[in-house]
Amino acid sequence: MLRYNDIAEKVLSYNPKADLDLLGGAYIFSAKVHQGQVRLSGEPYLSHPLEVAGILAEMKLDVTSIAAGLLHDTLEDSFTTLDELKTVVGDEIANIVDGVTKIAHIEFSSKKEEQAENFRKMILAMSKDIRIVLIKLADRLHNMRTLQYHRTERRAAIAEETLDIYAPLAHRLGIDWLKSELEDLSFRYVKPDIYQRIAEYVRANQQETDRYIQKVIGVLQEQLTAAGLTIDIKGRTKSEYGIYRKMESQNLSIDQVYDIIGFRIIVESLSDCYAALGIVHSLWRPIPGRFKDYIALPKANGYQSLHTAVIGPYGARVEVQIRSRDMNRIAEEGIASHWRYKEGRKSKSMSQDEQKDDERFAWLRQLLEWQRDLQDPGEFLDTVKIDLFPDQVYVFTPQGDVKRFPKGSTPVDFAYSIHTDVGNRCSGAKVNGKLVPLRYQLRNGDIIEILTSSTQRPSKDWLDLVVTARARSKIRHVIHQEERLQSMKMGADLLDREFRRAGLNFQKMQKRGEIQRVLDELNLRSIEALQSQVGYGKLSPRGVLKRLLPPDKLQPEVQEGATRLGEIFRRALKRSRPSGIQLRGVGDILVRFGKCCGPVPGDEVVGFITRGRGVTVHSASCSKALLIDPERRVDVEWNQEEGLLHPVKIRIVSVDAPGILALLSKTLSAADLNISHARITTTRDQKAVNTFEFAVTNLTHLNRVIKQIEKIQGVISVERLST
Ligand code: MN
Repeated sequence: MLRYNDIAEKVLSYNPKADLDLLGGAYIFSAKVHQGQVRLSGEPYLSHPLEVAGILAEMKLDVTSIAAGLLHDTLEDSFTTLDELKTVVGDEIANIVDGVTKIAHIEFSSKKEEQAENFRKMILAMSKDIRIVLIKLADRLHNMRTLQYHRTERRAAIAEETLDIYAPLAHRLGIDWLKSELEDLSFRYVKPDIYQRIAEYVRANQQETDRYIQKVIGVLQEQLTAAGLTIDIKGRTKSEYGIYRKMESQNLSIDQVYDIIGFRIIVESLSDCYAALGIVHSLWRPIPGRFKDYIALPKANGYQSLHTAVIGPYGARVEVQIRSRDMNRIAEEGIASHWRYKEGRKSKSMSQDEQKDDERFAWLRQLLEWQRDLQDPGEFLDTVKIDLFPDQVYVFTPQGDVKRFPKGSTPVDFAYSIHTDVGNRCSGAKVNGKLVPLRYQLRNGDIIEILTSSTQRPSKDWLDLVVTARARSKIRHVIHQEERLQSMKMGADLLDREFRRAGLNFQKMQKRGEIQRVLDELNLRSIEALQSQVGYGKLSPRGVLKRLLPPDKLQPEVQEGATRLGEIFRRALKRSRPSGIQLRGVGDILVRFGKCCGPVPGDEVVGFITRGRGVTVHSASCSKALLIDPERRVDVEWNQEEGLLHPVKIRIVSVDAPGILALLSKTLSAADLNISHARITTTRDQKAVNTFEFAVTNLTHLNRVIKQIEKIQGVISVERLST
């Protein structure tokens, strides 16, 4: 069993200034908390945190990490509270331990590779401090090393999780020794039969393989040196897991996996690489299609090397990699670790998201690399606290699938990602078993369960709740559909009444196909289209009737049956206040301006028919306007002669200096403006935020005012507000 002193010594060897008081304190606390607890192996429980701390010391991590490693199971397996831990070892270590505990609590069950990837990212997203992940990996490594003490059924499950989640995670972080050990340890439990067969095969051939490796190295050494090259050659057999992977991916039996043996030749310079390659190819016949020049065409992560495969002595196939010393350093330092091609991916087929993730991982590996080079591991502290996925959140479905969402997403976003119907009928949600409001923002590791009700319908308010484009467009679709349905009903009703007054039955005429002529004339696809046009007020029911009856048969128009637009105009006449807006081709109408955007003459505008309230005019770029059913849209334009005043709101950010407000209001009144509302606030960084409301005649007028304000010394920005 590893002793505390061994760890302390190890830490001192690479970090002579290490705070051993802190480390010792952590050790004593851990020993006290775990006292009396025993591992499945029969050893005292404390042996586990000690081993984990030992692994972290091997990785040359800082004292905080080692101390957190000693304490990593204290919150999980005892009655210790986070607060207690904080008073003993301080917030930083306690928070790391808390992070490790949180990861331990999330469970992963899915078998799909894509899910495993999301789960790995969830772990990283939850680890606000990268040391949490490193401790988790060390913890898993020691658990794998002692897996034989677990019950047989548990072994396979733990090993599988290691293979799916933790080995790839180690790989992505560029810690290849950790990845390989996790893989090989897992492999023997996940596929015990195949592992045995491969291990036996390797063992049976071991002597022969070793002799073979020596022979090839001897030949290469002699020939390459004779050519004047200074070289360093290593030969190795693939790991059991590596052989298995090759058998699987290429559907081979073990005897067919020829290139179990690989050689790496390190030379002095770039040109030596090609010289060495020429000699290798002249010694043994190259296998066609196996030569890759990653020197001329480096991988996206900077990896450079020549790869080839040849028929070696006795007809055995061997892999040969040739690279310079510099290239080798880059390859081994993990910045250019090979996860991408080993995982069978090509950068060209990667989506933007994947490429972004890729950069994040490259950056992480770089970070870990720097840490290894640091003289003072204390410097590490500044760089390890990161939010690796600041704009994403990973949550579980009740089935254990992991789903990714933009930050700020709510259960409604989640519901729509499951199915449109689930979204439309979403009446509530449970997060980790507890009811939450629909505006709840998803957090990493949450298990989300959606409650549905057959009477639930999406409402406009939902548009403020959702973040994902999918949910937004689905909600908008339902709202438009309902509006369309309503106006269709209204249109049907108006048509029925108008026809009844003329002694006709619209329904019967429709069934007899007598309405078809009107549809053709108006270029409408269906009766429903006709009805909704009437409902929206774009067509009058009487206008429809006129197309079917000769003028003498038409009853005189009565007030009740007035057209929708007629009604609008009638109201417009009652309200005499002119708006400065005209509906294309029609006289004055009742107009309201969208409060959201407050357009002024000169702004491009669009109008929307509102049931019974005339036309609402929005700025063409207004985001609210985009939500309105385009069917209701009408063309409007400014009547420039009106010269009416329109309210606008602007925000001026300026330095918070005396006299600046006086200057601002002087400028505004000089421009002949009446300020109807003003609000001034100051910010902590000595700025003043001034919001003014006043009226202008048109856009030119407003822009002139803004220009004048911008000229005032001390003004930082001027902005027209839309809300
Ligand atoms: Mn543990």
